[in-house]
Amino acid sequence: MTRISADFDVVVIGGGPGGSMASTLLADFGKSVVLFETAKFPRYHIGESLLSGTADLLKRIGVLDRLEDAGYIKKYGVEWVWGDRREPWTVYFKDALAMPYDYGYQVERGPFDQMLLENAREHGVDAREQHKVTDFAIAPDGSATVDFENTATGETGRVTARWIVDASGQGGLVTKRLHTQEWDDYLRNMAVWTYWKGAKRPPGLDAGNTFLPTFSDGWWWFIPLRDDITSVGAVVDRQAFQEKKGMGLEAYYKECVEKTPELADRLKDAEQVDEIRVQRDWSYIYDGFAGDGYIACGDAACFIDPLFSTGVHLAMLSGFLAAVTVNTVLDKPEFDRGRVLDFYENAYRKEFARLRAQVYFLYGGHGSSKDSYFWHARSQFDVPGIDPEKAFISLIAGAFTHRSWYRRYLERLDVPAELRGTIESIFAGKSAGANIDLDSVLIPGEDFTKADGFAVDGAHLRESVSLETREGASLALTPAMELLLELAADGSRTGRQLTEALVDQGACGQDQAQNLVHESVSYGFLTGVEKVRDGVR
Ligand SMILES: Cc1cc2nc3c(=O)[nH]c(=O)nc-3n(C[C@H](O)[C@H](O)[C@H](O)COP(=O)(O)OP(=O)(O)OC[C@H]3O[C@@H](n4cnc5c(N)ncnc54)[C@H](O)[C@@H]3O)c2cc1C
Repeated sequence: MTRISADFDVVVIGGGPGGSMASTLLADFGKSVVLFETAKFPRYHIGESLLSGTADLLKRIGVLDRLEDAGYIKKYGVEWVWGDRREPWTVYFKDALAMPYDYGYQVERGPFDQMLLENAREHGVDAREQHKVTDFAIAPDGSATVDFENTATGETGRVTARWIVDASGQGGLVTKRLHTQEWDDYLRNMAVWTYWKGAKRPPGLDAGNTFLPTFSDGWWWFIPLRDDITSVGAVVDRQAFQEKKGMGLEAYYKECVEKTPELADRLKDAEQVDEIRVQRDWSYIYDGFAGDGYIACGDAACFIDPLFSTGVHLAMLSGFLAAVTVNTVLDKPEFDRGRVLDFYENAYRKEFARLRAQVYFLYGGHGSSKDSYFWHARSQFDVPGIDPEKAFISLIAGAFTHRSWYRRYLERLDVPAELRGTIESIFAGKSAGANIDLDSVLIPGEDFTKADGFAVDGAHLRESVSLETREGASLALTPAMELLLELAADGSRTGRQLTEALVDQGACGQDQAQNLVHESVSYGFLTGVEKVRDGVR
């Protein structure tokens, strides 16, 4: 692509978490970025519970400390009353795989989104609030014009840019026009919620946990926020809602509370401090996320469901990936643009599909045991032999797929030494539950292929060849990895000996070699054949 003369390199539409993430990174990468946000911040938004996996994305754009300083409530786990018994069960993020942080935050989206947007400005983004994008056009060369209206003054204007990032949320300004929105027939629920002061919370570290009890019409979220405020919302089947809404929202909400004794108990001495709010939360995905001149992130591309609180995480994760993708398209015209955009879309779709499958399973399995949820999560995972509960927690923490990114960030993360040791051992494959025995003879597994693709490498994507399992796990085919497979091919070495050989032949240092062997076994690129006796190969 030839360099186009434009007012800006990139126009970002929308200043939610997806838009702030993408714009901040693009500005960091040296691009000139204008962001239009129709609202004046702070503005109200639903979506208050963040995943522990979001913490290092926040760290990446330098806001994690601010979140900490602002005193947002930390959630260390999620308590469920879900399944065939009404006995509550809790999962903790500390038990997730490959997580640099063992907690997420519960945030009021008004100040949280404002903080992200202000941070974007500090990174050089020209962020304009009360600027509504009214139209756009993309020329055949991919360059774009974007029309806006200043909603405070009524003035209108136009900018030109080399690329558009659509981060306009559920409105999907660009995607709605250029793509088909595929609604999910199964996930068409309604959310009915309000805020309470003084709701009963569990003691100690559990006080900030999200609480998710089911009841006959659906399920509840109970999200503890600062200042003793709690967000309490019911997600109900739209049919049930239609039938009951004639009784009035207040009465319907009250009836739902009464049907859920565990929740009623928490609210019995609390005071309702806001109106009842309603929103449909239908799941959808567009049939395309990107094309010449534009890319969509966050809800502008797809939305799953509130159940696992994945919205902000996916918005920030896709914002990160979108930024690297756009930066690559703009800086590296030698790369096939279609392939680069496909990398982005495939990565985001894969994450969407995995999480949606688990949401389906929990909805379908209202009456099943918690163990069935854990086992289903395991089937979504690309690590053979992973403990089912760990798989479930990792999935709802936003963990595993991004393991290699976490590893890369780990060096830069401010993680307590004790936790760092734990994470490093996880990265080393020791906690993957794959029962790696270094004294087993290892040979290359059979169930993987080589694939040409891209890998995130700093501010850009780079061409990479990777090994991929049938489940979709992949590992870069580095020279060290190539040598490892070569050394294992004749079935004469144990894991320990392979590690030594990698070091002896100068492929990598001891720790790296050990990691590579563990990781290869965890993914199934190497498999054990037999246990050997001391000294016998
Ligand atoms: C009932 C419910 C509960 C939820 N609970 C959770 C939860 O607990 N945790 C969680 O992580 N997620 C939750 N979500 C999802 C979460 O709200 C979204 O996924 C998340 O906000 C998506 O971020 P985004 O940046 O893509 O879009 P948004 O946050 O919606 O930001 C889009 C921005 O674009 C602006 N905009 C729109 N059109 C224009 C235009 N034409 N010009 C300029 N600006 C424009 C909007 O004003 C808005 O500020 C929930 C969703 C629902 C419906």
